[in-house]
Amino acid sequence: MKKTDLKKYTDFIIDETTRLLNIDSPTGYTEEAAAWVKDEFERLGFKATYTNKGGVIVDLTGEDKENGLLLEAHTDTLGGMVATIKDNGRLQLTNLGGMNPNNAETENVRVVTRFDGIYEGTFQLNNASIHVNGEYDETKRTWENCEVVLDEDVKDKESTEKLGISVGDIVCFEPNVRVTKSGYIKSRFLDDKLSVGILLGLARYIKEKKVTPKRALYAHITVFEEVGHGGSGNVPKGCTEAISVDMGCVGEGLTCTEKQVSICAKDSGGPYSYRVVQGLVTAAKEIGADYAIDIYPHYGSDVEATLRSGVDLKHGLIGAGVYASHGYERSHRDGAENVLKLLIAYAL
Ligand SMILES: [Zn+2]
Repeated sequence: MKKTDLKKYTDFIIDETTRLLNIDSPTGYTEEAAAWVKDEFERLGFKATYTNKGGVIVDLTGEDKENGLLLEAHTDTLGGMVATIKDNGRLQLTNLGGMNPNNAETENVRVVTRFDGIYEGTFQLNNASIHVNGEYDETKRTWENCEVVLDEDVKDKESTEKLGISVGDIVCFEPNVRVTKSGYIKSRFLDDKLSVGILLGLARYIKEKKVTPKRALYAHITVFEEVGHGGSGNVPKGCTEAISVDMGCVGEGLTCTEKQVSICAKDSGGPYSYRVVQGLVTAAKEIGADYAIDIYPHYGSDVEATLRSGVDLKHGLIGAGVYASHGYERSHRDGAENVLKLLIAYAL
């Protein structure tokens, strides 16, 4: 396969990922993102349906209905929720998923009220002026000593409540999407919207190249991965195998780069199916995808949730290398292209 053949699809993946990244979707607040995903798969000519809990199942066609393959990617991200409206009118948050106050500090946020629209603010250390706060450097950032400073004229609890802001409101952190001329893509939430973009690219490839996958092929865009049950249940009939398409880890001690497709052999949930990993590595070699095999020390995936929900299938995990995961994440279009290549070789 010539690199130029895939360029069009990689461009599409980066465009679609960028669009999705700009739709706020912290875990528990994913309706708009899921609706966008459903529309995009339908626009490409595929049947897409909602699961009861708000995910999207896409039928990517295929022959062998008794030996189906399910690809799982998640559109939920990290975020926050209003835990307390403080006496100074500011908001103390609780995390949604593994959002970390250290790298969320100074980020712009949107507070989504239930009935009174959206308000902007900034997530700051309490008493955030360096010229005033003598303990600024030494203070460990926690959810308790950081707060949302609303960009509204509020000075006490009552004035904030008057805006319609309430405990339980969703707080969305600015995704900060950037695509560089050198091909890097950066955002807080590449995990796992880059993979959703890749599955859209795969769908477009199937349609335009008029490919019929050998096995029945489905995609499940899940919405509760960041809290561990995204992939539980909702496996289409006849599926014997599921692969999470999620971010590949990049960091010290690992071999993957942001330009490669990572094939995970083991994560916190234990080893992936030996047969699936073997098949993925073989397919990557055959098609010439630049890949790395790695072990992720602190990681769980949708497909492990699928297994734990009691479904009997073989499981695997692949993804584009993502650096600074759950922080300000970075990947590269070559990484996305290598995932697409591997999926073309393995799933079609
Ligand atoms: Zn993820």
